Amino acid sequence: MGRMMTNEPLIVLSGVNKWFGELHVLKDVNLSIARGEVVVVIGPSGSGKSTLCRAINRLEPINNGDIVFDGTRLPQEGRPLARLRSEVGMVFQSFNLFAHKTILENVMLGPVKVRKEKPAVVRERALGLLDRVGIAAQAEKYPAQLSGGQQQRAAIARALAMQPKAMLFDEPTSALDPEMVGEVLEVMTGLASEGMTMVVVTHEMGFARHAANRVVFMADGQLVEEADPKTFFASPRTDRAKDFLSKIL
Ligand code: ADP
Ligand code: MG
Repeated sequence: MGRMMTNEPLIVLSGVNKWFGELHVLKDVNLSIARGEVVVVIGPSGSGKSTLCRAINRLEPINNGDIVFDGTRLPQEGRPLARLRSEVGMVFQSFNLFAHKTILENVMLGPVKVRKEKPAVVRERALGLLDRVGIAAQAEKYPAQLSGGQQQRAAIARALAMQPKAMLFDEPTSALDPEMVGEVLEVMTGLASEGMTMVVVTHEMGFARHAANRVVFMADGQLVEEADPKTFFASPRTDRAKDFLSKIL
């Protein structure tokens, strides 16, 4: 089947539940993410934000519910799952670059090894991406020679090298020294304004305010409240969201 309905959502979670043993970490999660939408997920530690991200690209199996990505309902394994992983880029708190490979090699690895693309083609794209995230001059260096902010920008370039349809960010700036947070958020803001579909778990409320189309507040495994950022920050509806905001703002 073709993908002719371009305004169908890119990602749809319906009735998603996830347990770790007795612990119910995702409770009947329903979330629909439009193409080009930027959704910021906030909430207390342990509320299930990382598990939600990992469920979306199936790094974490779910117990029940449906996840539909780009019109395809995803099984727990097999080829559609491998396809999904290459179509959803993920950036974590820890940069996870290969220490013994240069920055350029790190960025080229996925497309060349996983997708079997021609190295010469991938190299051009990778250099373009390194330029776009502002670290073209670091291409031949090793991760340890870069600052944390530069390493995280390299990790973003690496994810983009797979030409994903969506990007998931799980606290991408939480491990950075404060002076490096801005340069990473700037790259993310650029991606958002270019129309990338993004799910971003972050405590950076400035980013949420100016880059998000929607803020989703999570607590105890549930999506408790969602609104556009202006509405959410000005007038959170639930006591839990009010309480959370009073602690972080
Ligand atoms: P957040 O990212 O919002 O801090 P997480 O999604 O990491 O929350 O965790 C949600 C809950 O699931 C927490 O109680 C956490 O301790 C638990 N949890 C996360 N990963 C695992 C795991 N692999 N095994 C068992 N419990 C886990
Ligand atoms: Mg987390």
